[in-house]
Amino acid sequence: MTAHVIGYEVYCDGPDEHTDCPESAAIANSFASRTARAVRADGREQGWTARHGGGRLIDLCPRCTAKRQGGAQ
Ligand SMILES: [Zn+2]
Repeated sequence: MTAHVIGYEVYCDGPDEHTDCPESAAIANSFASRTARAVRADGREQGWTARHGGGRLIDLCPRCTAKRQGGAQ
């Protein structure tokens, strides 16, 4: 038997490509969200952002998004 993937998890890639997210955050996707697109829509409601970088999507949790926009610390 093959295990079925239930839902789709999107993890934070931030605050930048060389640094792991200090919170190891993942979007708390709603029960009905089963695709990456649906989960990212959930994330946007929670303050997540997704941007293109280096040919792929970079997902950032609210904390890392604020860090990027706030500049160097
Ligand atoms: Zn993060």
